[in-house]
Amino acid sequence: MEPICSITSACATQISALLSPPSPNQIQEYYHNIFSSTHCNSITVKQDDNFGKGLYAATDFKEDELVLKDQMLVGAQHSFNKIDCFVCSFCFRFIGSIETQIGRRLYLTQLRANESHDCDEGSSSKSSKNYHQMDSSDEEESTWQCSSGSSKTKVPLPEGVVESLMNGQLKLPYSEKFSLPPAVPCHGGCGEAYYCSMSCAEADWESSHSLLCTGESCDPRRREALLKFVKHANETNDIFLLAAKVISSTILRYHKLKANCLAEKGKNVASCVSDHPNFSLLLEAWRPITMGYKKRWWDCIALPDDIDSSDEASFRMQIKELAFESLQLLQTAIFDKECEPLFSLEIYGHIIGMFELNNLDLVVASPMEDYFLYIDDLSNPDKEEAEKITQPILDALGEDYSTSCEGTAFFPLQSCMNHSCCPNAKAFKRDEDRDGQATIIALRPICKGEEITISYVDEDLSFEERQASLADYGFRCRCPKCIEEEP
Ligand SMILES: [Zn+2]
Ligand SMILES: [Zn+2]
Ligand SMILES: [Zn+2]
Repeated sequence: MEPICSITSACATQISALLSPPSPNQIQEYYHNIFSSTHCNSITVKQDDNFGKGLYAATDFKEDELVLKDQMLVGAQHSFNKIDCFVCSFCFRFIGSIETQIGRRLYLTQLRANESHDCDEGSSSKSSKNYHQMDSSDEEESTWQCSSGSSKTKVPLPEGVVESLMNGQLKLPYSEKFSLPPAVPCHGGCGEAYYCSMSCAEADWESSHSLLCTGESCDPRRREALLKFVKHANETNDIFLLAAKVISSTILRYHKLKANCLAEKGKNVASCVSDHPNFSLLLEAWRPITMGYKKRWWDCIALPDDIDSSDEASFRMQIKELAFESLQLLQTAIFDKECEPLFSLEIYGHIIGMFELNNLDLVVASPMEDYFLYIDDLSNPDKEEAEKITQPILDALGEDYSTSCEGTAFFPLQSCMNHSCCPNAKAFKRDEDRDGQATIIALRPICKGEEITISYVDEDLSFEERQASLADYGFRCRCPKCIEEEP
């Protein structure tokens, strides 16, 4: 059954204005602002009629040189990853201490194992709707569904140890060499968001969290609706949480622009805005998002392998229904009449599709690996002494003790980078890159004026395999390597 979204028909004109592609001037202006705010003059964005946007070197780069760091526009940690990694909700830096990272993880893993044993039947009946697996690797899926699955290889710690790791009573040897910023809880009191600093807490509150916080400052009805929305997203697809951030940040930008205009009006009689909703300001608030979206989620999502092509239409319809379910829960929670078009299924589908097509993984390495390597590299008797304490902890954490922080984010510059199977740059985190920014490194010398490319797929795959993977992005690669290898 086709979901009927009344806002999509009521706001049709405004929606098509929001979805019309930005003009070349608007694109130039947007990226110019990014470059000037980050004092970056080594790259430019150029627009091409055939291939769309592309990123070009404005200077020469040496091999292994940093090409750019790209601050995300919006991002979120995957729900299943929140058990393993305790990170800043804004910049995704690891926070707390080595002890809290370990204690919290062991505690939550146990909690989840107990829960899933209580309601085994319930969780399996949901699996037909669990679209999460289509965005993630199988490995991630298994962690999410059954953290007790690998428990055979894990040896639980004696009672009380997990608690004393969490409350700071137990200090691990040499952990002070791997200190992390102390966790700052969200001042809204939700107990969900934690930060590496007051400035991250404030920036997140300003940009989206003030609308999505479920703390005591939130109206009880809104809180209840928000919690329902979050639960639905966690059970189906956590990309909905990211879509909610996009909508919230647009609403907040809109109100900020409007307040600025009203303040101007006080000084100037020839005002730019009245007290009424102002669509041109909504367009302006929405502009950053127009740099990213391409298609609606249910139109662009790749058909999973286990679904027969004859069922494609019904599969896409199910996806659309799922998005509508989520959107209705979000509407109940944060609807804003002045920003009504943002709550249409049409816009929601485009926002989710933007994350589907841009393949922008957020990864931050865990400090845990460095810590245990350090212990391993000690010489005796220090090593023996330290391992009396750390070995049981490693045994309790199991093989995947150093899981990275993983999520999805939209990176405005990285998303402009075109694909090549023989790229001259790659996304790569160096040891010092400990937050959620994307880092692009030159793979070989790049000359001024050359286009900067990355590979969207594993470039060691065969020609046919590469073309098949790239078909999901909707293009056929014509890079030098493909032209040469084409049969
Ligand atoms: Zn932070
Ligand atoms: Zn909060
Ligand atoms: Zn190619």
